[in-house]
Amino acid sequence: MASSGAAKGRIPLPGGCGPPYCWPMATRTRPSASRQAPPIEADIGIAGAGLAGLAAALATAGRGFSVVVVAPAPTRPDLRTTALLASSVAFLDRLGVWQEMADAAAPLAAMRIVDATGRLFRAPQADFRAAEIGLAAFGHNLRNDILGQALRAAAIATGRMSFVQAAVEDAVFRPDGATLLMSDGRRLDCRLAVAADGRNSVLRRASGIGERQWSYPQTAVVLNFEHEFDHHDTSTEFHTPSGPFTVVPLGPRQSSLVWVERPREAARIAAAPPAELAREIEDRMQSMLGKVRIVSDIQAFPLAGMTARRFGRGPLVLVGEAAHLFPPIGAQGFNLGLRDVELLDRLAGACGRDGLPRLGERYHRQRALDIGLRTASVDLMNRSLLSAFLPVQMARSLALHALCAIAPLRRLAMREGIAPGSQLRHLLDGPRGPGQPSSAAK
Ligand SMILES: Cc1cc2nc3c(=O)[nH]c(=O)nc-3n(C[C@H](O)[C@H](O)[C@H](O)COP(=O)(O)OP(=O)(O)OC[C@H]3O[C@@H](n4cnc5c(N)ncnc54)[C@H](O)[C@@H]3O)c2cc1C
Repeated sequence: MASSGAAKGRIPLPGGCGPPYCWPMATRTRPSASRQAPPIEADIGIAGAGLAGLAAALATAGRGFSVVVVAPAPTRPDLRTTALLASSVAFLDRLGVWQEMADAAAPLAAMRIVDATGRLFRAPQADFRAAEIGLAAFGHNLRNDILGQALRAAAIATGRMSFVQAAVEDAVFRPDGATLLMSDGRRLDCRLAVAADGRNSVLRRASGIGERQWSYPQTAVVLNFEHEFDHHDTSTEFHTPSGPFTVVPLGPRQSSLVWVERPREAARIAAAPPAELAREIEDRMQSMLGKVRIVSDIQAFPLAGMTARRFGRGPLVLVGEAAHLFPPIGAQGFNLGLRDVELLDRLAGACGRDGLPRLGERYHRQRALDIGLRTASVDLMNRSLLSAFLPVQMARSLALHALCAIAPLRRLAMREGIAPGSQLRHLLDGPRGPGQPSSAAK
C-alpha cells in the first residue's frame, strides 16, 4: 500500500462545468528561471502516447481542440494484443478510426472458461456465445502496435495535434489551466492536462492525487502463435491455480497467448527455447488447436494493482493506467481506459474551451463507479483463482455453475461484459427506460 498527499488549499471557482474544488498546492514547485523560454500553448496537453493517450488525442483533436502530446520515445515494442469489447469498437468507429484497423482484427464470437485448477471444487466448462445475445461477436482482438499506429495516424490527420518527444517532469496547476514542465527544458501551457502517462504517472504525483497500490505474486507472459486447427473465433481462458492462461484468436489459425504465472515460473517460460515452449503450450491446451508454432518474441509483464484516489480535479483528468491498473483478466484494462476517453471526449465537447479548466471534478464523479466496480471484480476473480481457501473455491465454482445453468443470468452477464453499466441502467429504467432501447434490441 502506498499513497501520497499534500497540504490542501481551497480555490473557489466561478460557475460553469465544475463546482469549487480542493487543490493541493503547497508542495508544487514553480518553473525555474532556466525554463523561461516562451511556452508551447494548447487547449489540451496530454502526457503519454500509449493507447490511452493516443485515443484521448484523437478524440479531443477531432472535436476541434488544439492538442499537444508529450511522451518520451518508447523503450521497447509492445508485443501485446488487445481484445476490444463491442462497445470499444463502436467508440473507435465513431472516432472514424475503426475501419483503419478492422482488417487486422479477429472477431471473438465465443468465449470459453475451462477450470484447470485441479481442485476439489471445480467449475464446469462455461461457454458464452455472442449469438445468444443477438451479436455476431463480443469484440475483436488485434495487435497493440497496429492499434497504436492507427490511433496515431488518425490523430495526426486531424491537423490539430502535435507531438513533443520528451518526458513530463513536473506540473503546476492553476484555476485557469496547467503548465507541464518537460525534460527538454520547455513548458507547455494548457487549459486541461490529461494524465495518460501510465502506472507511475508523473502528472498524478505532481497533482498530489494519491493512489492505492497493491501487488500480485504473478507475471503475465505474452506471445503469438500459429496452430494446426481452426479456433472458430473462440477465445479460451484456462483457469489455473497460478492465474489464467488465455488464448485469443488473432487471425486465421493464429492466436495470442496471455499466460499468467508465478514470477519464477514466468521467467523460466520466457527463457525457454521456442520449440520446447510450443510443445508445452500445446499440452496446456490439451491439443485443442493441434500443433503450435511460436511466431513472435516473448514479453513479460509483472502484475500489480493501483487505483488513483481521484480521477480528476480542476484542470487535470487521469485516463488509462495513470488512473487504474489491474491484471489482464476478461480483457478489461484498455476497454476501461477507452471509457475514460469516451467520457473526457463527451465532457470536453459539452464544456467547450472555456470549461476545460474545470472539467476534472465532473469527470471524477462520473468515472468513479465504473472504475471501482471493474477493479473490484477483476481483483476478486484473480484472487479466487489464487486462493487455497475452500469456501472461496466453492463460491467461484458455484458462480460458474449458475452462469452455465441459468440462461437469463448468463445473458445478463454477457451484456454487462460488452457494455458495462448497461444492465444496471436497464434494471433502473425498466425494459424500455426513458429514451433507451431495450438491451435485448441492441
Ligand atoms: C499482458 C496484458 C494483456 C492485456 N490485454 C488486454 C486486453 O486484451 N484488453 C484490454 O482492454 N486491456 C488489456 N490489457 C491492458 C492494456 O494493455 C492497458 O490498459 C493499456 O495498454 C494501458 O495503456 P496506457 O496508455 O494507459 O498506458 P501505457 O501503455 O503504459 O502508456 C503510458 C505512456 O506514457 C508515457 N510516459 C511515461 N512516463 C511519462 C512521462 N513522465 N511523461 C510523458 N509520458 C510518459 C510512456 O512512454 C507511454 O507512452 C492488457 C495488459 C497486459 C499487461
